Amino acid sequence: MRNSDYTEERFREMRLGMVRDQIKRRGVVDEGVLEAFTVIPRHRFVPDQYREQAYQDAPLPIGYGQTISQPFIVALMTESLHLGENETVLEVGTGSGYQAAILSRLCARVITIERISQLVENAKTTLQELEIKNVSVYHADGSVGWLAEAPYAAIMITAAAPQVPHALKKQLSEGGRMILPVGRVRYQELQLWKKEQGSFTYETIIPVVFVPLIGDQGWEEDPRGML
Ligand code: SAM
Repeated sequence: MRNSDYTEERFREMRLGMVRDQIKRRGVVDEGVLEAFTVIPRHRFVPDQYREQAYQDAPLPIGYGQTISQPFIVALMTESLHLGENETVLEVGTGSGYQAAILSRLCARVITIERISQLVENAKTTLQELEIKNVSVYHADGSVGWLAEAPYAAIMITAAAPQVPHALKKQLSEGGRMILPVGRVRYQELQLWKKEQGSFTYETIIPVVFVPLIGDQGWEEDPRGML
């Protein structure tokens, strides 16, 4: 590991700047969400060579052709789920584990699924090092959800789906919320789905660009020609 010249205090100052300038200033107001971003050390979730860039207003590579999302997008998606402290949330697309760590401070339990085994191991290690105990990381195709513990009060998909996966809609509980990017390979819209009295409604939040959801109810293979 290359040791950064930055101290933990310096990283904390940068983190506070990120919360103020990128997240609060763009309209995220939920105090619990803002607190989670203030506490969780994003620099611990990125490869060593990117540590000093961890609080910039951008996604970063995490290896295997994947990315840790832009902080504001993580915050926007988190806030939109309005998590309750007794709820369980399913995340599809663990990546670095950063989003799962943020969610872990706002609900009872996080189940997160990742298809790339090396990323599963890296995320597990980081979460353990940070003593985050209410996140379970599984290596599987999350496009079909995680039936074992369904239904979920909230579901977040952090990879782009060509259409909303039916399996995931089925795993949403009554009153449940699901947020995901839906659309084409390099351009999607962020959609927030709600299940009320057995019926689904959705609203479009903003345009986004995510890496593809690859699996049974996603893309058959990486449409970018990677992995
Ligand atoms: N939430 C992540 C974080 O905080 O670092 C960022 C996720 S990254 C934008 C999308 C992730 O989804 C990638 O790690 C990718 O391997 C994963 N992914 C793609 N298709 C998947 C599938 N069917 N099941 C589980 N994970 C999948």
